[in-house]
Amino acid sequence: MAGHVFGRSTRGKLPKAVAGEGCYIIDADGKRYLDGSGGAAVSCLGHSDPDIRAALHDQLDRLAFAHTGFFTSDAAEDLADTLIAAAPEGIDRVYLVSGGSEAVEAALKLARQYFMEIGQPSRHRVIARRQSYHGNTLGALAAGGNAWRRAQFAPLLVETSHISPCYEYRDRAPGESGEAYGQRVADELEAELQRLGPETVMAFVAEPVVGATMGAVPAVPGYLRRIRQICDRHGILLILDEVMCGMGRTGHLFACAEDGVAPDMITIAKGLGAGYQPIGALLTSAEIYDAIDAGSGFFQHGHTYMGHAMAAAGAGAVLRAIHDRGLLERVQVMGQTLDAALHDRFGQHPHVGDIRGRGLFRGLELVADRESKAPFDPARKIHARIKAAAMQAGLICYPMGGTIDGQRGDHILLAPPFIISDDQVQELTDKLARAVSDALA
Ligand code: PMP
Repeated sequence: MAGHVFGRSTRGKLPKAVAGEGCYIIDADGKRYLDGSGGAAVSCLGHSDPDIRAALHDQLDRLAFAHTGFFTSDAAEDLADTLIAAAPEGIDRVYLVSGGSEAVEAALKLARQYFMEIGQPSRHRVIARRQSYHGNTLGALAAGGNAWRRAQFAPLLVETSHISPCYEYRDRAPGESGEAYGQRVADELEAELQRLGPETVMAFVAEPVVGATMGAVPAVPGYLRRIRQICDRHGILLILDEVMCGMGRTGHLFACAEDGVAPDMITIAKGLGAGYQPIGALLTSAEIYDAIDAGSGFFQHGHTYMGHAMAAAGAGAVLRAIHDRGLLERVQVMGQTLDAALHDRFGQHPHVGDIRGRGLFRGLELVADRESKAPFDPARKIHARIKAAAMQAGLICYPMGGTIDGQRGDHILLAPPFIISDDQVQELTDKLARAVSDALA
């Protein structure tokens, strides 16, 4: 048997994960890997958490699934209530789906339907940012700004144009203040709206802290507030994609809380399931939903597994664990510890140009030359070599990039479980240093 898991044989090509224990994954040979990236910012509680296992068992013993066309459940309703209670101002509706792409897809469709309902059918375009990823379904892929991912599927379903990301390390001019830079780059949205005609645009989509495509790059203070003002000026919806940076990863349940911005929609997934069950959600306002209720009657978007009782029970237990164990505060403290350890280890490294991030969402950017910030030649595939060397060393980290992907520079994303200890932070930085030096050798 070939083990065709992803349409091609995986057998023998990757280690086989057989068990999980706190911050470690164990393979079939008994080798232990420190989960320095929570997979891809997923496993916020680590592996095999007893409370989440108990909640899932409990729900499974009672009822795994009842179609939402016929039934609701305590698990789904309680989860929605918890999310709304914690969400930024103006967010009071939840739409449960099964993952990040589905949540983004739902946001794009909801935006479109809303403008149809309120008599503005010309609003169909989306503006997003280069070097962004919002998912792999056709609509979410259209929003993303990665030229390489998009190329094979053009023309894409949703007409999207892309402005610059907020990327202080590379794009802030010498002598320019952070605030001035934030305003300058946010004003690209205004210029793009003028170019397209604001009455044709429905939404602007961005991650508050960019994960997979940039390596934990936060917006500079003031940037998102300026974006909010521009959206308001032109009646455009602000969709913040917190699939990666949300659910406590930055030390706040919603990353945008730190930017002082209330979006019209937020998408979440990854950490909400914490790896225990596939789940995602779109959060939005009553105003948007009510316009639809008053018009066509319901949001034209449904999936068989939406609001799945077991997925919702598990996610409810994840949020309870984050709250009851004080994990947001812990993320802030351990985030500082990780940041200090990274600076200690890589602050003078000739090929580490930038160390950035918030909470337990941190990134390193690798450069051929610190002075000029020149990226490595993409043909060297530094990110792939680091990933392989880290696995060899028993560390899971999330390197990405290379200009070949329409991105600038190789980077490493770190997003360990919130329960990581001081010793494990040391282990992470030790193993990472070894992997980086092996990959560059
Ligand atoms: N949005 C962002 C910001 C993401 O990082 C991802 C996944 N990396 C997605 C959307 C898509 O989520 P999923 O893989 O669960 O479909």
